[in-house]
Amino acid sequence: REARFEQLRELPNESRDGVAVDLLINAGLAIDLKQLERCGAVGIGLFRTELQFMIASKLPKLGEQEQFYREVMQAVGDKPVTFRTLDVGGDKVLPYLQTVKEENPAMGWRAIRIAIDRPGLLRVQLRALLRAAAGRTLRIKLPMVTTVAEVVEVRHLLNREIATQKRFGHTMPKEILMGSMIEVPSLLWQLDELMRVSDFVSVGTNDLFQFISASDRGNTYLANRYSSLSRPFLRVLRQIVQAAQRHNTPLHLCGEMSSQPLSAMALLAIGYRALSMPPGSVGPVKEMLRTLDVSSLSPIVRDALDDTEPMLTLREILIDYADQH
Ligand code: PEP
Ligand code: MG
Repeated sequence: REARFEQLRELPNESRDGVAVDLLINAGLAIDLKQLERCGAVGIGLFRTELQFMIASKLPKLGEQEQFYREVMQAVGDKPVTFRTLDVGGDKVLPYLQTVKEENPAMGWRAIRIAIDRPGLLRVQLRALLRAAAGRTLRIKLPMVTTVAEVVEVRHLLNREIATQKRFGHTMPKEILMGSMIEVPSLLWQLDELMRVSDFVSVGTNDLFQFISASDRGNTYLANRYSSLSRPFLRVLRQIVQAAQRHNTPLHLCGEMSSQPLSAMALLAIGYRALSMPPGSVGPVKEMLRTLDVSSLSPIVRDALDDTEPMLTLREILIDYADQH
């Protein structure tokens, strides 16, 4: 199997009918970086910066963060890497940081919420990223955005940090892109505003699905109860594609959904053209992609989503299609 995927590595990331798709990886530790070359992905779509913080015994200092980000950028070479700012709080506890006891940590004081209330942490991280990306393109994305105002607020913080770095004579990145994760349902009713304030958007289906279906992503009793291949969820994902297209905003999806060939098929059919996944999934998803005729699957999925006859999931439709082709 491994050998089969290795042969695929040099072939274009393209469907049978010529649709180009970016296959990217999710990463967070130095050891993940070797995987990029090995699996043939075109870049890192999600770099979870909190992992460096979670394995440390004390808060990593500015210099340590900067050095780590520089290592990451050197390792990826010309390929893009998107750093997600700290997604801590909730269940991702940093033992050395005082946090609050919460009844619902997943919906608690976490991620960008902490960053806005205690901007010191985020400012140091932004500074480290700006310095590490000197002369290159810096891509940053924000976790758990709930209102567009939060994006605007972080943009101000970032601009202030850029000004400070310039004043001190640091070489700046040649381009700075700031995007938003779409993983909180409230954003679905402000997609047009969100696209306007974001240089790109990134769908986090793990959290988005947990919040839309009101089911804890880690609860095994619920694991098979609701499906991300269900009509309501796929309609939501399609709505995001349409909004991104309206505004010409680059879009990728980085939840676990993109890692299963069957779900990836559905995502391609509704218009996703960039998927970020664990490195081990790139081979299987690419194998599916190279045999898929997107133009013949798309109308089938569209009809199933536009239909109003009760239906549990699109799973059978996708499996039938895969069998026949
Ligand atoms: C997500 O929520 O889908 C996501 C990619 O982020 P994480 O799994 O790190 O919460
Ligand atoms: Mg998430």
